[in-house]
Amino acid sequence: MGRDAHGKRALYSGVRPPGPPGPRGTSLAVTCSRCGRTSTIGLRRALWVLMPSVHLPLPLGHPSLLRCPACGRPSWVRLTLRSHP
Ligand SMILES: [Zn+2]
Repeated sequence: MGRDAHGKRALYSGVRPPGPPGPRGTSLAVTCSRCGRTSTIGLRRALWVLMPSVHLPLPLGHPSLLRCPACGRPSWVRLTLRSHP
């Protein structure tokens, strides 16, 4: 029993990297081509915003059509994922 617990503790302290677990520090930046503003939103709100959305296979410009969080209208936007460690 005692040996088992010690082994587990050693494994966790050795392998786990420091920092908060999960995707908590990730947000989505939405740059709107209509109003020109960039909105940074959390992942939960991003899911809501992205619900009806269209994405074109273009690497440049504003390839995604969705409801802009800043002006609230369907707009062509550029999406950028940001993570805050
Ligand atoms: Zn907008």
